[in-house]
Amino acid sequence: MRRFLLFLLCALLGLLAVLLVNTLRLPNHQLAPVPAAPAVAVSPDSAVAHLAGALRFATVSRTLYSETDTLPFGQLQAYLRRTFPLVHQQLKLQKVNRYGLLYEWPGTDPTLKPLLLLAHQDVVPVLPGTDSQWTRPPFAGQQAGGYLYGRGALDDKLNVVGQLEAVEALLRAGFRPRRTVLLAFGHDEETQGRRGAAALAAVLQKQHPQLELVLDEGGLVKADGVAGLTRPVALVGVSEKGYLSLELSATGQGGHSSMPPALTSVGRVAAAVARLEAQPFPARLDGGVSGLLDYLASAVPFGKRLVFANQWLFGSLIKNSLAATPSGNAALRTTTAPTIFRGGDKDNVLPIGPQPPSTFACCPATRSARLFAA
Ligand SMILES: [Zn+2]
Repeated sequence: MRRFLLFLLCALLGLLAVLLVNTLRLPNHQLAPVPAAPAVAVSPDSAVAHLAGALRFATVSRTLYSETDTLPFGQLQAYLRRTFPLVHQQLKLQKVNRYGLLYEWPGTDPTLKPLLLLAHQDVVPVLPGTDSQWTRPPFAGQQAGGYLYGRGALDDKLNVVGQLEAVEALLRAGFRPRRTVLLAFGHDEETQGRRGAAALAAVLQKQHPQLELVLDEGGLVKADGVAGLTRPVALVGVSEKGYLSLELSATGQGGHSSMPPALTSVGRVAAAVARLEAQPFPARLDGGVSGLLDYLASAVPFGKRLVFANQWLFGSLIKNSLAATPSGNAALRTTTAPTIFRGGDKDNVLPIGPQPPSTFACCPATRSARLFAA
């Protein structure tokens, strides 16, 4: 018995030693900040006004492109021409599929590979019936209490206008980049980007097959709450999830609801949904999430660092705690979500089947990225 206890103690001490060594050997990935570039004079008031102006064009993407009202896109582009005259005088502008924009600011050194900045002009629709829930109208570009309100204020006209604002200010100051700078703004990002981003990518592949760096929207500086940190964490997305929509349908006997069969068509689809929800895809800690923990490790208290540095042992613990929140869960696995559920249309009649559609759409719709903290 004593021997066994001694063995257990040695094993525990050995394990502790391994955990500690892993923790102490974990490299610190935090970068030393490079000196900031000299500031260029941009008037904050006019920059905000420029963005507010852009929010007033309802450049809404519709799932069916043929249903998209393209007029606001033309109006937005006319507005950008008026607002950023130097950009439009001095940069080369190509229109791709009419509304996709590709600006080229040639660098002084043509041997350097270009820098590509991306953004998109379109926004998602306002859900019908939710107008009264908006504290400010979605397309008014109103400012209040130090905030600017409107569809696209963050996603993603902020980037369109911000990039043009910066280039306009640099042109005004007489700056010329050494490296060619490309700006590409799609117009259907919210509905898969086939006409915008994909077409722009094809043009870029021909004209600039080699790029030094591509920067797109995504990621954010989260003020707190990442791994319990109170310090801001800059989350850099390095990949994006795709998604798949599936439709489940069941056909059943119609009839009066007073004499239903043992299993109705609604019940069958509901059972399938319940099974999907009960069996989520497996959680994985490898790749981006594991990388995020490595990057955060040097900033968290020692106990947590020990856990992050020993994912081989604490993997399930980390997975369980991440899975407890929807965003953490989405970082761990392919998610599934029922989004549209349709059955009959009369409360005392059994629906027959997908005519009218008894459908269920299921899609891992969460767009999330592999995240690294910088
Ligand atoms: Zn976006």
